[in-house]
Amino acid sequence: MVACAVENNIPPAVASVNERTGTTWVRVYKVDNGLSFPDSRSVYVPIPCQQCDHHTPCVSVCPQKAVEYDQATGIVAQVPVRCLGCRYCMTACPYHARYFNWWDPVWPKGMEKTLNPDVSTRMRGVVEKCNFCSSRYQAARDRAAAAGRKELVVDEYLPACVEACPAQAITFGDLSDRESDVSKLAASEKAFHLLGHLGTEPKVSYCSEQAWVKKIAERRVKEAAHG
Ligand code: SF4
Repeated sequence: MVACAVENNIPPAVASVNERTGTTWVRVYKVDNGLSFPDSRSVYVPIPCQQCDHHTPCVSVCPQKAVEYDQATGIVAQVPVRCLGCRYCMTACPYHARYFNWWDPVWPKGMEKTLNPDVSTRMRGVVEKCNFCSSRYQAARDRAAAAGRKELVVDEYLPACVEACPAQAITFGDLSDRESDVSKLAASEKAFHLLGHLGTEPKVSYCSEQAWVKKIAERRVKEAAHG
């Protein structure tokens, strides 16, 4: 969550913020199986935008075409300058992965020096969300072009959360390449989608052999609507 905020110029939260009015493009839920010691187990479940592939709910409802599905990458991108702040997309998103910027960004003295020059600062009055660090994708494409390559090499483009995770718990890659690590993981028996029954075809998969993880994580996502 910290790597995401630093990468995407998300300012520190104001004092009056709550779970729904803050801006956290990736939120990490701690979920547990509800049992007592020694059977208790808990896991951490990061919930970024799931980059829905089918009838992408936020794209479908936006009256401004401020949400775009990139056919080349499958990434669902938000265009802040087109957003009028109606927040219809927040209502439509079943994963509560969208956030409305209620405040102008305020940076503690000196912290403005940490701003990422490749990403615009956040605007008040618009909805935003995880875009898989699309500026990193652009930078990787530029580097590849400068080297005379049309294609990126494996791991040349990684979102900040993937790069920062010390446990390498997140695998990122090209799902259209069946031989990629991420494709193999997504096709494994222990992989599942959150709220997959809705038919949104998320591109984010989770891996666990414990059946309760999916059940409890989905419950937490549904509860997130209520803050
Ligand atoms: Fe849109 Fe929400 Fe799906 Fe992301 S998870 S593509 S914000 S509906």
